[in-house]
Amino acid sequence: MCHRCCRIFAEGGNYKGEMRALYIGRFQPYHLGHHAVIKEIASKADEVIIVIGSAQRSHELENPFTAGERYLMISKSLRDNGISNFYIVPILDVNWNAVWVSHVESLMPPVDVVFTNNPLIARLFKERGYEVQAPLLFNRKEYSGSEIRRRMLNNESWEVLVPKAVAEVIKETNGISRMKTLARSDTE
Ligand code: ATP
Ligand code: MG
Repeated sequence: MCHRCCRIFAEGGNYKGEMRALYIGRFQPYHLGHHAVIKEIASKADEVIIVIGSAQRSHELENPFTAGERYLMISKSLRDNGISNFYIVPILDVNWNAVWVSHVESLMPPVDVVFTNNPLIARLFKERGYEVQAPLLFNRKEYSGSEIRRRMLNNESWEVLVPKAVAEVIKETNGISRMKTLARSDTE
């Protein structure tokens, strides 16, 4: 028999109650794919815990934005949509898969269900007894952190792939200029 959370989400049911859901990402940057999934989870769960993974990483081509910048991107975008039933928890890497779930547990509120499309994260949480669900992917070809970072470096249109608040945070923090600096080497 499935857990209560599994039944409710599978049936597309709507409820408010005890259910706390976990969503994990690096959010480099937060984009419209993440946003669609979190809006959906927030409309069904009582609370959404959003873990910003690899929180210590920034100023790298694959991870250009700081945890604080990613925090702003997520919180402003959700608030712009009138969503307030979320908590954001930045979490550092431990580079030790067998203890990673305990590490996350030590830093976040207890949760009933984990939403992820990442096979390793799903596996690690399932092995610890969690209900894990894979959200639908939205326009994954374009709503993708890698694709957005590629466009940023190549002066292609990326703003259309992120919530308005994300484009504002990136502009305020000179994010594109930072990425272009990261792409340069000292031999140029
Ligand atoms: P990157 O290319 O940098 O890995 P990403 O787009 O995969 O970026 P992540 O922060 O790595 O974003 O992913 C967080 C979670 O969001 C993962 O479970 C990922 O599968 C999911 N996700 C990513 N893109 C989409 C999308 N377009 N629709 C729904 N979920 C998505
Ligand atoms: Mg990814």
